[in-house]
Amino acid sequence: MMGLLQSFELAKYILENNVYPREPSSLKEIRDVTANHPAYFMSTAPDTAQLMGMLLKLLNAKNTIEIGVYTGYSLLLTALSTPHDAMIIAIDPDRGAYEIGLPIIQKAGVEHKINFIESQALPVLDKLLQNLSIKYPSFFNLHFSSFVWHFFNFSQSNSSFFFFLGISFKQKENEGSFDFAFVDADKDNYLNYHERLLKLVKVGGLIVFDNTLWGGTVVQPEEAVPGKRKEARRWIMEFNKWISTDERVEICVAPVGDGITICRRIC
Ligand code: SAM
Ligand code: CA
Repeated sequence: MMGLLQSFELAKYILENNVYPREPSSLKEIRDVTANHPAYFMSTAPDTAQLMGMLLKLLNAKNTIEIGVYTGYSLLLTALSTPHDAMIIAIDPDRGAYEIGLPIIQKAGVEHKINFIESQALPVLDKLLQNLSIKYPSFFNLHFSSFVWHFFNFSQSNSSFFFFLGISFKQKENEGSFDFAFVDADKDNYLNYHERLLKLVKVGGLIVFDNTLWGGTVVQPEEAVPGKRKEARRWIMEFNKWISTDERVEICVAPVGDGITICRRIC
């Protein structure tokens, strides 16, 4: 609750004055249902989400990728901050957590933008890079996105059969086709995600990484860091060091929530 500011009062002041009053009611609903979940602390911080919403709108982002969905706070934020015909590829192996927030996403009327893929993220990103488009005909119910995923892969290798049936699947050049990506999952893969997303996101597009100040522990001596936070802290610090030298992106570390690193692809 103190956040990176290390001041409970200041964090509360920002949230109560600037964040909660402008938080859409559906996002508050997801925050409320998540509060009863044992891993509630994993939800994206509302001030981080507020900044992300502004970035998405400034970019006029339409095609986005989200890695690490949990109950869907940042996913719903993305869906609410993008146009009606946006397409969000949301990847997480934990469908159960996603289904906690799903009724709220449906009620908010933005589910049609979301293609939830129940999977580890790396294989999905690799498929996207092989130009296996995961777009699907609109008559499919989005509830069955994982079925669609398998069906589509089948159709890729049997395209003449589907052409005969009058169903065509768009082969899409995925490289450079995304406006925005949000990464909020396994910290040991941040660099792996960065390499792939850098190809998938267009020049001028953004990749945002969450938790890059790891509760402020990045400046604490290792012995002062609680045991279970040590390993991820090391991965985050490696990521921070690497990204600071990566000339393919402009970066900005914003100390909101648990710290986010905003990367803008420049070449
Ligand atoms: N952004 C989410 C929100 O606002 O509620 C929080 C995400 S939570 C911090 C991390 C999520 O990453 C978990 O739901 C977990 O299942 C997922 N995850 C862990 N390893 C993953 C992987 N290899 N690929 C994709 N998602 C993964
Ligand atoms: Ca996070």
